[in-house]
Amino acid sequence: MKIGQYELHSIETGRFALDGGAMFGIVPKELWSKLHPADDKNRIDMALRSLLIMDDKRKILIDTGIGTKLSKKIQKIYKLDQTEHNLEASLEKYDLEAKDITDVILTHLHLDHVGGATYLKGKKLKLTFPNATYYVQKTHHEWASKPSERDKGSFIIEDFKTIEREGKLRLIDGYAMILPNIDVIIYDGHTIGQQVIKISDGIDTLVYCSDVIPFTSHINLPYIPSYDINPITSVEDKEKLLTRACEGDWILFFEHDPVIEAVKVVKAEKGFTIKETISL
Ligand SMILES: [Zn+2]
Repeated sequence: MKIGQYELHSIETGRFALDGGAMFGIVPKELWSKLHPADDKNRIDMALRSLLIMDDKRKILIDTGIGTKLSKKIQKIYKLDQTEHNLEASLEKYDLEAKDITDVILTHLHLDHVGGATYLKGKKLKLTFPNATYYVQKTHHEWASKPSERDKGSFIIEDFKTIEREGKLRLIDGYAMILPNIDVIIYDGHTIGQQVIKISDGIDTLVYCSDVIPFTSHINLPYIPSYDINPITSVEDKEKLLTRACEGDWILFFEHDPVIEAVKVVKAEKGFTIKETISL
């Protein structure tokens, strides 16, 4: 897909699984399990789908997946599988290596979004993308550096402290056009200062929804993950994003949907519904 000067590609870095109940909050299993069948441990399949944005000058990546440095025990809990999809193979399709990436925009610092930014070499953490600048919202970085007891399990502090130590972290303070035709919308429901990324040339627009709308099934407004620290704000965030997407005929891109990469939406009698599914 092309938007303005950019070529956009979907980059899968692995598959994993999380508890279905946690992904849908108060929604009964009877409803969500029809859309997302659970395994014997109640886990449902999830994609780790980054977005590669390229022009003559830049090779930009949005989010980095979970990475390769989790312990075998944790990998088993998350059912992590990087045999079919992994960062190296996905970049190779476009004749790229990690060192070619110029910019990494991180929607937030949860371990399944920033984990791939570093890897273990012996006992030391190294930057996966040594030549890139990494962008995060300032308010989110503050939160992630000192998370609450409830959500601290979603962060591995070293994931982003390594980027900081290498002098590659750029903190964005609120709204910004981070790069030409790439700006951000900030939402505080899922976590504080999550940035949703908007790529637009004024005619076509694609939004990388991150965890504001992880799956297409979350287009249904009350479907809010229990990971979210401010669930009421999450519903409001989602409604705002979906309303703007309808008005602007935006393409919504999903990081975690196991099947669908992207859709356009329309208003429905109750809430919103899918108008068309899109493959990049
Ligand atoms: Zn998250």
